[in-house]
Amino acid sequence: MLDYEVIVIGAGVAGIYQIKRLVDLGIKATVLEAAGGLGGTWYGNRYPGARFDSESYTYGYSFSRELLDEWHWKERFSGQPENLRYLNHVADKFDLRRHMQFNCRVDGAEWDEAGSFWRLTVSDGRTLTTRFLVLALGLLSIPARPRYEGMGSFKGRSFHTFDWPHEGVPLAGKKVAVIGTGATAIQVIGEIADKVGELTVFQRRPNWAAPLNNGLISNEEMADIRGRYDEIYATCARTPGGFEHEPDRRGFWEVSREERLQLWDRLYGEPGFGIWLANFREIFTDEKANAEFSEYIAGRIRQRVKDPATAEKLIPRDHGFGVQRVPLETRYYEAYNRDNVSLVDVSATPVVRVTETGLRTTERDYDFDIIVYATGFDAITGAYDHIDLRGVDGERLAESWKDGPTTFLGLMVAGFPNVLMPTGPQSGSASVNFPRGIELGVNWCTNLLLYAREHGHLRFEPTRAAAARWSKHVQDMYAMLLLRKAKGWFTGYNSNVPGHEEGRIRYVVYNGGQPKYVGILNQVAMSGYEGVTFGEPAHTSREASLSSAPGLSA
Ligand code: NAP
Repeated sequence: MLDYEVIVIGAGVAGIYQIKRLVDLGIKATVLEAAGGLGGTWYGNRYPGARFDSESYTYGYSFSRELLDEWHWKERFSGQPENLRYLNHVADKFDLRRHMQFNCRVDGAEWDEAGSFWRLTVSDGRTLTTRFLVLALGLLSIPARPRYEGMGSFKGRSFHTFDWPHEGVPLAGKKVAVIGTGATAIQVIGEIADKVGELTVFQRRPNWAAPLNNGLISNEEMADIRGRYDEIYATCARTPGGFEHEPDRRGFWEVSREERLQLWDRLYGEPGFGIWLANFREIFTDEKANAEFSEYIAGRIRQRVKDPATAEKLIPRDHGFGVQRVPLETRYYEAYNRDNVSLVDVSATPVVRVTETGLRTTERDYDFDIIVYATGFDAITGAYDHIDLRGVDGERLAESWKDGPTTFLGLMVAGFPNVLMPTGPQSGSASVNFPRGIELGVNWCTNLLLYAREHGHLRFEPTRAAAARWSKHVQDMYAMLLLRKAKGWFTGYNSNVPGHEEGRIRYVVYNGGQPKYVGILNQVAMSGYEGVTFGEPAHTSREASLSSAPGLSA
C-alpha cells in the first residue's frame, strides 16, 4: 500500500494550485514543503520593496470566480505582505492547508521500477511512497551567495535577500551594504535608501531598469477589474508574455524616429512591463533596433542621476535593454542622488574578502552593520539539483542535467517515470507572467494524470527521442533572440554556482511565447500524448486500473 497517489513537492503558487486540483478530484495527495509555511517565493522574499512586477490582478489565480470577486488588490503591483496574505487566503478558503506538511524537506527520491512508484526520504526521517511525483519546486528558490573568503567572520548581520529575517531588520542609522544590482537589489535599494544611515551598493554589472509606476487600486477600479476578468485573462492568454501588454506590431524601421520616441515616452510613463513587452518586436531580435532603444533608456538614466560619472556607471555596456530580464524600479536611480548612498564598481575594484567589520575590495576596507546579498539564485535547475532524484536504473537527475536540462515540454523527463514538473526547466513558465504559466502547467499535468487513470496506466514516461526533439526546439528558439547572448539566469549563467560560470549556454527556458506553447501542449494531449509511453509496473497485471491499484484510492 503506497502512502499517497500523488506527492507534490513545494507549496508555492504552483503547489497550492496543484493540490487544489488533486483534492477536487478526490486523489489521495499531499504537499511536502521545506519551509515553515506556504507561499514559496512570497514566503521567502521578505526584503523591503519585494513586490509583483506583474499587474496584481493578472498575477492572481484565475480558477475561481468567487476568489476573483472577493479579493481586492490594493496596489497595481502588490507588495510581499499582501501577496503572502492572498496565498494564505486561497489555502484557507479551499481548505488546502490540511493537505500540506511544512518543515519537510525532501532530500531524495528513488524510483522503484518493480512496483512503479517513488520512495521519498524526508528531512524529518520519514520514508514516503507515492505513485506519482509532482515537482513544484520553483524556478528561483535556491539562493546563491558569492564565494568570498571570510564570509563567516563578519560580526554584523548578513543575509541573502531570500532569507531576509521574518521579524524585520531595524535599518535606521545603520551602515548597509547591498551586493548585486539585479531585480531584487533594485527593489531593495529604491526602498531602503532613505531609511538607512548609509547605503553602499556593490555593482559588478549594471542592469537596464525602467519605472514600475505603481499606484493604488480604488474600490471603483477594482469593481471595474472584476467586471473585466474574463477579458483580462483572454488578453493574457493571447500575448507572448502572458501579460496584458501586447507588442507593438508596427515594424520598428517602418515608422519614423519621432513615432518611435512617442511610443517610448508613453511607455516609460506607464505602469509595468509595457516598456519591454509592448515595445517593437525588433527590440528582442535586431541589434540595431535594440541599440537605438537602449540609447533612449541611457538618456533617461542620465536625466535622473545627477552625478554624470555615477550615471555612466549605471548604464550597461555589455548588453542591450531587455536582453536580460528587465527589473522594474521605484526611485532606484534617484537613490544615487542622495548623500548617504554610494556606488562601488566591483568590476574595477573586486571584493577580496569579507572581514570582521565589513568588506575589503582591492582598493580599500568598508565597515558595515549589515551586509545584504542580493546575489540571485541557482535558477531554474537549482532546486532539482538539490534533491537526490534517482530514476530508472539509478540515473541521477543532477548528473544527467549537469550540462543543462533535457525535458519533454518542460514538464517531464525521460528516465524519470511518473514525474511531472508543472513549471519545469524548458517549460513556458519562466518566460511568461508566472502564474499564467503555472495554471497552464498544472492543468496539463493534471489532465495527464486523469488520462492515465482513465486508461488504467500506472506508469508513464516520455521517450528520449521526444525529449531530444523538445530540447532542440527550445534551443532553436534561443537562436532567434538576442537573449541568447545574455549573461543571466535565462542562459544558465551564475558566477556563484560551480559549473554555471560564464562560457556555456544552458537552454533552460522556452522562449516561443505562450500561445505557441499552449498550441503544442494541446496538440500533444489531443494526440493521446504522443511522445509519452504508458504502461504498468512489472508485477501488476494489465487489467489493474489506477483507481483500484494500491494507494490510489481517494
Ligand atoms: P539576479 O538577477 O541574478 O541578480 C544578481 C545580482 O547579483 C547581479 O547584479 C549579479 O551581478 C550580482 N552578483 C552575483 N554574484 C556577485 C558577486 N560575487 N559579486 C558581485 N555581484 C554579484 O538575481 P535577482 O536580482 O534576485 O533576480 C532574479 C530574478 O528574480 C529576476 O530576474 C526576476 O525574474 C525575479 N525577481 C522578480 C521580482 C519581481 O518584481 N516580481 C523581484 C525580484 C526578482 P552580475 O550581473 O555581474 O552577475
